[in-house]
Order: sequence, then C-alpha cells, then structure tokens
Amino acid sequence: MLPSPLQEIWDERLGGVRLWLKRDDLIDPELPGNKWRKLAYNLPAAGRTVLTFGGAYSNHIRAVAAAGRRFGFGTIGVIRGEERLPLNPSLAFAVARGMRLTYLDRTTYRRKHEPDVTAALRERFGDFHLIPEGGANAAGVRGCAELPAEIDVDHDVVCCPCGTGATLAGIATGLAPGRRAVGYAVLKGASFLDEEVRRWTDARDWRVELDFHFGGFARTPPELAAFADDFTERHGVELERVYVAKMLYGIYARPPGKRVVAVITDRPFP
Ligand SMILES: *Cc1c(COP(=O)(O)O)cnc(C)c1O
Repeated sequence: MLPSPLQEIWDERLGGVRLWLKRDDLIDPELPGNKWRKLAYNLPAAGRTVLTFGGAYSNHIRAVAAAGRRFGFGTIGVIRGEERLPLNPSLAFAVARGMRLTYLDRTTYRRKHEPDVTAALRERFGDFHLIPEGGANAAGVRGCAELPAEIDVDHDVVCCPCGTGATLAGIATGLAPGRRAVGYAVLKGASFLDEEVRRWTDARDWRVELDFHFGGFARTPPELAAFADDFTERHGVELERVYVAKMLYGIYARPPGKRVVAVITDRPFP
C-alpha cells in the first residue's frame, strides 16, 4: 500500500525538466490516494461511528465509506444539497460500502461545523467521531506529511493539486531541507488558500499556483481534456480531471523546477 510508486516520465515537451509521478492513485483500489493519507490518523476508536461531510461527488465521502468497510466502523455521510435519485456513482459506491446518507440544505451546510448543527446531528444519530469535510484537519495534515520521505530521487519541488490545502500543508511540513512544495488550486479565486495552509504548517517553502483552475471546480474545458487525453496516450496514465489534470497542465505550461515530483492524488472515478 505505502510507499506509493514513483514513475519517471520521459517527454520531450518538458525540455530539460525531469518529472516523476508519485502514484498515490495506486495506494489502494478502494481508498483514494490523498484521501487515504488524510484519514490514516483520523480513524475512530473501536466501536465508534464516523460522521463526515461532502458534496454529492466528494472523493472524501467515498474514501470514508471504503475505510469504514475495510476497518469495520460505521459511517454517516452528510451530503450538501437535496437528495437526488438515482444516486450518482460516488454516492452509490458509498452506500454499497455501508454508509448511511443524510442531506443538509446549502445554507445549513455552510454552517456544518458550528455547534448547533453538530448538536442536531448528535440528537439524530447518537454519538459519533466527526471528521471535517475533505479530511482537512491537523490529523489529515500529519498523514500527508509522511509523503515527502517516500521520495527517493533527487528533486527540487513536490507538486500537488489543492482543494482545501491540507495535502499541500502536509507535504510542506514533511519536505526535506532545500526542497519546495507547489500546490495547484482547482477552485477559482482560491486566494484564501495561503491563509488556510499557514494555519496548518509553520513550513515556509511552499506556494499556491492560482492560474490553472480552468474556470472553476470540476470544469473541464476542451483544452484541458485534450491535454489529459494526450498525456494518457503518451504515457499510459489515466488522469483524474477535477484535480490531477489541472496540476499537470500547470507543470507543463510553467515548470516550477528542474526536477519535479507531481503527486497523482487519485485515479478517475468511476
Ligand atoms: C481532495 C482531493 C485533492 C485536494 O486535497 P486537499 O487536501 O483538499 O487540498 C486533490 N486531489 C484529489 C484527487 C482529491 O480527491
């Protein structure tokens, strides 16, 4: 399972830049890469049920459901918005792994971590171990901080895609001296990420790249799709498009170093 493999990519379009893929997408067929790293220190004590939050297409929801089945704890997924049937493949997967789903309207969902909302959830579901949305907390950062030590090639920079920034904060925390981390924001207008990442790490050798969001979360304009298809054809690696393809596009467009490790945080789903 860990360490995940490191794969060098040979591509003349990179000029003299060396590129390795850190294949976290291969960590486990059921536990999505960086979500598994974030969960490793977030698992509940024996016998406790986990409750967590996510959008209807959340990779984190899928990861928690799979971990619950694998390690034998109950799971409750609190989903943003209205129930839609039939369930999409992400939620159908979660239910198939034993997750119980419930829904919060968007206004309440925005306040999901506030005491009155969690109190209402406890009233309804009894005692639970709460994991925040995206597995983004100090324990999640700690899990991701173990990644850099697995890299056994000489490199200048480690790149990852950024949603909440917890993965970037972890990687920055675990970097060897003299190395840098670059996160590629997949949300439009994600300048909040600098402050988020600073809350989670004292490390300083990192930055967030804001220029490759391609219009916002889950947008895949033709230029990005063409890049991802071409990459798959050349290198035989399928690129997840919400996060991974945007990072790799950014690395090709503007290489952040001479020896670059790119973390492939997950595979396409379904
Ligand atoms: C959730 C996710 C990320 C973002 O991780 P954060 O820690 O929230 O920044 C990156 N890649 C994939 C595939 C993800 O599912």
